Amino acid sequence: MNYPSRLIEEAVNEIAKLPGIGRKSALRLVLHLLKEEEGATVNLASALVKLRTQTKYCKQCHNISDEDLCQICKSPRRDTSIICVVEDTRDVLAIENTAQYNGLYHVLGGVISPVEGIGPSELKISSLLDRVAAGGVKEVIMALSTTMEGDTTSFYIAKKLKEYELRVSTIARGVPVGGELEYADEVTLARSILGRTSAEQF
Ligand code: ZN
Repeated sequence: MNYPSRLIEEAVNEIAKLPGIGRKSALRLVLHLLKEEEGATVNLASALVKLRTQTKYCKQCHNISDEDLCQICKSPRRDTSIICVVEDTRDVLAIENTAQYNGLYHVLGGVISPVEGIGPSELKISSLLDRVAAGGVKEVIMALSTTMEGDTTSFYIAKKLKEYELRVSTIARGVPVGGELEYADEVTLARSILGRTSAEQF
């Protein structure tokens, strides 16, 4: 496509890099921004820059947070004896939306995948073990995807947890979990959290 302006072309190129946005949609957004008041674009740009440069990760659970400790870890109303292990922040959001879970989280940042060169040390596994070793944790819920990588990761972590006196449970199989958690409907996900089973297979 020939753009009438290099600036428009540059903006379209950048916006079209986002997932799910083709060049046509990008052009529509760019033209929309040009029609709006200048302040709207300035605000958008500054929100994006702040998002990227100022976002922090909770030093305890590694969830995205505005402060050193996230709202969930900081809350006095959460049950600190349960930790739910998830792949990423989307899983935290999905489980929080069910309003059926009152414990804490631990965000691994992915799952073990030899093909992609992701080993246990690339994930936040040692900090999970540190949290458990610090005491007070009675249950660890594995809520990773039911893919081979998710299972490998659950197995690896459960083995490491064997030396501690605690229950290791999994969210019921057959329910989309892990990377697909966000797609599970809330009722199904809530039911699977309430009906979680001890992970004897580990
Ligand atoms: Zn946290």
